[in-house]
Amino acid sequence: KSWLSRLTGSLARTGGQLSSLLVPGGKIDDELYEELETILITADVGMDATRSLLADVRRHVKEQRLTEAGQLKEALAHALLKLLQPLAKPLDVGASRPFVIMLCGVNGAGKTTSIGKLAKHFQNQGKSVLLAAGDTFRAAAREQLMEWGRRNDVTVIAQQSGDAAAVIYDAVQAAQARGIDVVLADTAGRLTTQAHLMEEIKKVKRVIAKALPGAPHEVLLVLDANTGQNALSQVKSFDDALQVTGLVLTKLDGTAKGGVIAAIAKAHPIPVRFIGVGEALDDLRPFVAEDFVAALLG
Ligand code: GDP
Repeated sequence: KSWLSRLTGSLARTGGQLSSLLVPGGKIDDELYEELETILITADVGMDATRSLLADVRRHVKEQRLTEAGQLKEALAHALLKLLQPLAKPLDVGASRPFVIMLCGVNGAGKTTSIGKLAKHFQNQGKSVLLAAGDTFRAAAREQLMEWGRRNDVTVIAQQSGDAAAVIYDAVQAAQARGIDVVLADTAGRLTTQAHLMEEIKKVKRVIAKALPGAPHEVLLVLDANTGQNALSQVKSFDDALQVTGLVLTKLDGTAKGGVIAAIAKAHPIPVRFIGVGEALDDLRPFVAEDFVAALLG
């Protein structure tokens, strides 16, 4: 089964609803627009993005003089693509060596899993990878990461004690000394309401810049697609604290409705660098707007 069909699994319900609404020969009227609005909102698209998509669809209908509901699918695809395309900017790690990627996110979002997937992704591109075990809150997390590194031939820099900033500082220096291509700097999962932890993660970023001017080159926020509109407030809080440069949206293979990507595109157009489509190491994909719209609209 292709990953796209797995994505379709999570979006299938929305796709099915859209297909039975936008039938060939159906009438385009206010009732249709209202139902379309309901479907989008239930798919986690959110109020703002839904309004803007519908305005776009109405404009398209007028300009193209569309007369029947079946044609609205194309108008919607057009509007969605326009909204999502700006998010489809792949990450280029060739800009610096080492290229330092700092990861953040709330607990359970899929950060640890995504780090493993990213390490494998860059190794597959022939790049050397070093992990900084900056999640110093959970000893088990450090052990897990070290064991994982041994099995996958990835150097892991960790410390028995010490704070995240110190571990990551060491890791960035080690990467420079060893000519490593990509550094993945893990940080402890945190709630955005924990003010002291948000201060701590800002310090981590400042210390990375001390170790290597210009770094971190990417601040990746890992988001669970199942958290719906809550993902928006996570983007806002982490972006306020760290100036997030990219997103990893995980668990799109599950029950997530996926519309949250459109909500993010409207509120915080930060590139979605990767999407998570499963628990295995190779279940990480670049975000391709056309694929996503095709999965939704068929
Ligand atoms: P962390 O607390 O942010 O480090 O989260 P973990 O990496 O430990 O992930 C939490 C759970 O989500 C684990 O059971 C992972 O296997 C699962 N998970 C992570 N990414 C994905 C994904 O893309 N798809 C699915 N189905 N599960 C995922």
